[in-house]
Amino acid sequence: MTPILQTQDITKIYKKGSVDVRALQGVTFGVAEGEFVSIVGRSGSGKSTLLNLIGGLDTATSGRITVNKSDLTNMKRSDLAMHRRFTVGMVFQSFNLIASRTALENVILPLAFAGIRRTERKARAEEILTKLGLTERMDHTPGELSGGEAQRVAIARAMANDPRILLADEPTGNLDSTTSTEIIGLLKQLNDEGCTILMVTHDEPTAAEISHRILHFLDGRVVDETILGSAS
Ligand code: ADP
Ligand code: MG
Repeated sequence: MTPILQTQDITKIYKKGSVDVRALQGVTFGVAEGEFVSIVGRSGSGKSTLLNLIGGLDTATSGRITVNKSDLTNMKRSDLAMHRRFTVGMVFQSFNLIASRTALENVILPLAFAGIRRTERKARAEEILTKLGLTERMDHTPGELSGGEAQRVAIARAMANDPRILLADEPTGNLDSTTSTEIIGLLKQLNDEGCTILMVTHDEPTAAEISHRILHFLDGRVVDETILGSAS
């Protein structure tokens, strides 16, 4: 099966003055359509760097990243913007919602960028928020939401344009254990419905419960892989 995502020997070197920080040192792996893949590894091992490259927020120093048959290497700025808009959805530990906007407006925003008509985007945002259990919270700003609710809004925003792959960087890192379980359950549900997910997490036991595969990161490399199942 053609992978939705394929990375080939990616490196990322950050220049800090005269010091080179080798955040990624040759990362090669693929993610098949429908898979739930988790990345675990200690702080500083390059996990966020990797997700940011796949998400098109930054560019690799060398190597190749292909998402949905498009090569991100040497992609034009405008194509990279399209990649961020349509191909990937991103969820972060700190939610990254716009504080002054309501939940509904936060989800409408990517639909507006995608050129969806005004009436349709509102209907679509309401539909997604309802699906994620936020019917009663649409008019709340992020400050008026619990952490779990804020993360569900962020997931709704990431899913708004029906991405080919959802990238989640420590999505439960700021949540208590009960709320973490709820968010993990939601991601599992989305995956069961066909959404391909690549998630970074500190919580290996939980990753083992819901993932098809776990990639173990150390010093900017995949050093081990645990195969638990396959996407049907
Ligand atoms: P993780 O998400 O696994 O904790 P990161 O990808 O955030 O790891 O970081 C990997 C390494 O790259 C770390 O040593 C970190 O300090 C460094 N790093 C990350 N972002 C930058 C940056 N913008 N500039 C310089 N160094 C960075
Ligand atoms: Mg990180």
